[in-house]
Amino acid sequence: MSEKDFLLFAESAPLVAVAARGAEHTLRCGVRSATERRERLKEVYGRALGCTACPLHQTRTTVVFGAGNADADLMFIGEGPGANEDKQGIPFVGRAGRLLDTLLEEIGLRRDSVFIANVVKCRPPGNRDPHPEEIESCDPFLRAQVELIEPKVICTLGNFSTKLLRGDPTGISRLHGQDEVRTIGARAIRLLPLFHPAAALYTPSSLQTLRDDFARIPALLAAPPLEQPEPGEGGESVEDDAVELGAEFTLSSAEGRIEQSHPEVETEEPPVEARTPEQLGLF
Ligand code: SF4
Repeated sequence: MSEKDFLLFAESAPLVAVAARGAEHTLRCGVRSATERRERLKEVYGRALGCTACPLHQTRTTVVFGAGNADADLMFIGEGPGANEDKQGIPFVGRAGRLLDTLLEEIGLRRDSVFIANVVKCRPPGNRDPHPEEIESCDPFLRAQVELIEPKVICTLGNFSTKLLRGDPTGISRLHGQDEVRTIGARAIRLLPLFHPAAALYTPSSLQTLRDDFARIPALLAAPPLEQPEPGEGGESVEDDAVELGAEFTLSSAEGRIEQSHPEVETEEPPVEARTPEQLGLF
């Protein structure tokens, strides 16, 4: 990391972010400063606010992009927004969110030191499961989040995110608590499938299992850095050609800017309920 990059990092990163992200990481990812990480994520958020790539845009109140620290080492990925999330624009509010906060506190972390997102950014009506085509439409946003945040560890919460990120139909009951290394986009990341907190609320035995699985997270965060694939060995990367963002946008490698690939496609104005990045505690 150049001195300039380090100064940018030091000036912009909240103290909790510095604490969450070890010196080893700041050295390793010197190509992208914390400032750049945040700014690019803000751009992706702006695009998500106007996204009409799947039918869920018709019934949402607002897009629930994700919240937390854009410079986090740890990401949680759930399923999709529920009614409260849809109203507030923030993921994991309500009882499941409070349980997640409690479990984080028990391992010495806070919500603002991690990043929390969902597989789909808009609420499926009536809390139904997201449809495969909706997950596919929204996947580029999730991939862009992972690529920009560059977490060391991703905890998938429940079946949908576990199956999506593993590219495998094996269910959460068989996989929970078993970490593995997966290449996601262009990065090798430690993946830890966990039960969804909402499921744990209703089953005491699942809650204890979730708590036991959470206890594995600190060791994964403290583990030595993974060897990363050589450029071109991994999957699509925002550093490589381009990642499609919904049907209408690409996050281009050229200057890392998001470009509208089909300018004739109009996007909706962001709903008035949309949260600012600052309100999301994101950036
Ligand atoms: Fe919402 Fe994602 Fe569908 Fe776009 S692709 S409308 S952000 S759920």
